[in-house]
Amino acid sequence: MPQLPTFADVRAAADRLAGTAHRTPVLRSRRIDEEVGAQVVFKCENLQRMGAFKFRGAFNALSRFDERQRDAGVVTFSSGNHAQAIALSARELGMPATIVMPTDAPASKVAATKGYGGQVVTYDRYTEDREAIGRRMATERGMTLVPPYDHPDIIAGQGTAALELFEEVGTLDALFVPLGGGGLLAGTALSTRQLAPDCRLYGVEPAAGDDGQQSLRSGHVVRIDPPRTIADGAATPSLGEHNFAIIQRDVDDVLTATDDELVEAMRRFAATMKLVVEPTGCLGLAAALARRDDVAGQRVGVIVSGGNVDLDRYATLLADGPSPT
Ligand SMILES: *Cc1c(COP(=O)(O)O)cnc(C)c1O
Repeated sequence: MPQLPTFADVRAAADRLAGTAHRTPVLRSRRIDEEVGAQVVFKCENLQRMGAFKFRGAFNALSRFDERQRDAGVVTFSSGNHAQAIALSARELGMPATIVMPTDAPASKVAATKGYGGQVVTYDRYTEDREAIGRRMATERGMTLVPPYDHPDIIAGQGTAALELFEEVGTLDALFVPLGGGGLLAGTALSTRQLAPDCRLYGVEPAAGDDGQQSLRSGHVVRIDPPRTIADGAATPSLGEHNFAIIQRDVDDVLTATDDELVEAMRRFAATMKLVVEPTGCLGLAAALARRDDVAGQRVGVIVSGGNVDLDRYATLLADGPSPT
């Protein structure tokens, strides 16, 4: 059994993040309240630094490095928001960051990571194993490996978004949270069970990759092939070990949303709330809309997890919907 973080760790993370992370706005829309038939509050992590909640976990984890670790720096493997979060956090804390990315990672993501001062090392994702490369660099160069979700400090940092939400709006009847490897959901669970113990807590993952739902229902971590979905931030093959232990204990259920539902939610965010939200960030609203009957008349929270999407792709998705896979 891994050592699990607690709500006290979320509080400690909030202290470390104070003054560096944004306290993101909680927004509402009368129009969306009408469409869902409930009072809906949105915690807007698409407006967090580097465009996603991942800054919270990364900065919290790197803040805890000792001097030797700071000198050698951090290494991670990711092509998504975690890479940018690590690069920016390392720059803030004045330490070197190495990010292992596939040779065919989107140019915009490589550019963003380099823009935050990260050193990018590429690998061929068809012939090489990114975890092995990350671990080798960690061993050979004394760097500390910080994975994207399966880590107590990452989970505690991600839990600070829900901590802020409950501080601002009080208790809720239900809360919908995007789910990939489970860093955000596990951290949110720690805050929810402390601050709003009766709130129903739902993880929401892409329908094409329902490993979280399968895991919760079968009682063990289920691993699947990397799913094909527009929700690239949640296209993970399995939940982390720490994450699953907390999710199994504290989360009511895991729901799914289809790519079509994500695009519909993305359009609503743009048209109604003037918010740019990436497909993965739309999982919570998509599930709340699908569950109208269960949440009718209630106070409902939705975590909007991120807003990083190439504008060309965003425009195409809004205009044409997801392309058939
Ligand atoms: C990483 C990510 C997620 C999933 O978070 P996990 O901690 O892996 O469950 C959801 N939304 C966005 C925008 C992300 O970047």
